[in-house]
Amino acid sequence: MTTNGNVSFWYAADGLPTPRPALAGDLDVDVAIVGAGYTGLWSAYYLAKADPTLRIAVLESRFAGFGASGRNGGWLANTITGGRDGYVKTHGRSLVGDFQRMLNETINEVIRVAAVEGIDADIHKGGELLVARNPAQLNRLDELALEQQKWPEDDAIRLSADQTAQRIHVAGALGSMFIPHCARIHPAKLVQGLAQAVERQGVTIFENTMVTQINAGTPKRTPSAVTERGVVRAQHILRATEGFTANLPQAHRDWLPMNSSMIVTEPLEATTWAEIGWKGRETLEDLAHAYVYLQRTMDGRIALGGRGVPYRYGSRTDMDGATQEKTIQTLRRILREMFPAVGGTKIDHAWAGVLGVPRDWKASVNYDRATRLGFAGGYVGTGVTATNLAGRTLSDLVLGKDTKETSVPWVNRSVRRWEPEPLRWLAVQGMYAMYHRADAQEAGGRGNTASIARFADRISGR
Ligand SMILES: Cc1cc2nc3c(=O)[nH]c(=O)nc-3n(C[C@H](O)[C@H](O)[C@H](O)COP(=O)(O)OP(=O)(O)OC[C@H]3O[C@@H](n4cnc5c(N)ncnc54)[C@H](O)[C@@H]3O)c2cc1C
Repeated sequence: MTTNGNVSFWYAADGLPTPRPALAGDLDVDVAIVGAGYTGLWSAYYLAKADPTLRIAVLESRFAGFGASGRNGGWLANTITGGRDGYVKTHGRSLVGDFQRMLNETINEVIRVAAVEGIDADIHKGGELLVARNPAQLNRLDELALEQQKWPEDDAIRLSADQTAQRIHVAGALGSMFIPHCARIHPAKLVQGLAQAVERQGVTIFENTMVTQINAGTPKRTPSAVTERGVVRAQHILRATEGFTANLPQAHRDWLPMNSSMIVTEPLEATTWAEIGWKGRETLEDLAHAYVYLQRTMDGRIALGGRGVPYRYGSRTDMDGATQEKTIQTLRRILREMFPAVGGTKIDHAWAGVLGVPRDWKASVNYDRATRLGFAGGYVGTGVTATNLAGRTLSDLVLGKDTKETSVPWVNRSVRRWEPEPLRWLAVQGMYAMYHRADAQEAGGRGNTASIARFADRISGR
């Protein structure tokens, strides 16, 4: 039997963490952070490091690591959410190059902090491999290779079919791109270790404490976070609620909650690994429009994620990680197509999590000195690394520091909101229907990108 939900497979071995105490009444602090995923915890970490006298409280509706931070595919990658081109138009090539180099360095920063804090998160820096599995994907790979020549910061290498197979034997692979920066991680071990690290610095994490409203500060009023258990007044309040942001009435249409689902196999036999290769533990992705992303886990399994049912009407969010049976079957089919050697290998666990998708598909790190409210998020599917840079940046913004982090183009952006329902639902369903149709046409042998996919990109604002 495949376990479905229970937050995610990443908690299966050690069980869900022992709950921390909830808020016990009204509280005054210097900084209140709403949400104990990577964004909230990295913000707390760097704030406490910068000023150990700060009283910092993290308010979490369930438990630290309940959200995407405890469920993701474990790609600690250097991706700029939403791509680089849009930022080049608004901020110029040079600043975007700096942004890219900072994300490259952020991967090393996460690895450094994990070592310093004694967080064993199964980290392996083996790079990432983007694989073309049909002629249209190969076409896109060649376009990408041309594009990459403008971005030496990525250090990308185009690999032939043979060179790809020497790394990982993906059935039918026609070529790939290797980017050396990415590291594989165990997401839940990172978020749990980080929660303990911030507590060691004197930060308090209140669990089972849902924030229902965040009130801005004014010259006469301190900002406050309202919970069912008391009101927290703070000099600064940072919102780090990502895919769950739609549950806060004032931010309901800011970020669309998009689902991503994953499956994980049982540990594979040594003979199966011998057929597949994958000795370098690269993270792996295909170039489909509704792409899949994979990692080889520390204990010898394959974890594979993809879109499944992308969005639920009215921005509804979570069912403790349970995903649809249809999604499990689709992901299993793709896994077998990529790796026939896995054959009837059991799928041990399936789960889903929620991402935050802004209307322009780009992340933001904002802080308003007038209201003393800030937030970071909207990382779509690329937040594992970005959250660390966002946390450092929020810390600088709160402390009024002018640093290279605070000059990154994602700081203090204003983005238009999503359309009201039913438009939101129709747009996302329509977009993914077009992507799936395009993928089917391309899998059927079409030589170039299906025009329906380009149309979907255009109307979705990607
Ligand atoms: C299945 C899946 C696979 C992914 N794979 C990758 C990957 O391989 N690489 C990558 O870079 N990114 C990936 N992502 C995205 C990445 O995981 C996220 O961008 C990142 O974890 C976001 O961290 P966060 O702290 O901002 O949000 P979250 O981890 O979602 O944390 C938000 C927290 O806020 C809490 N919260 C929400 N509302 C309230 C409230 N009102 N009051 C109190 N608490 C509240 C939630 O309970 C939650 O704990 C994936 C995401 C998913 C779902």
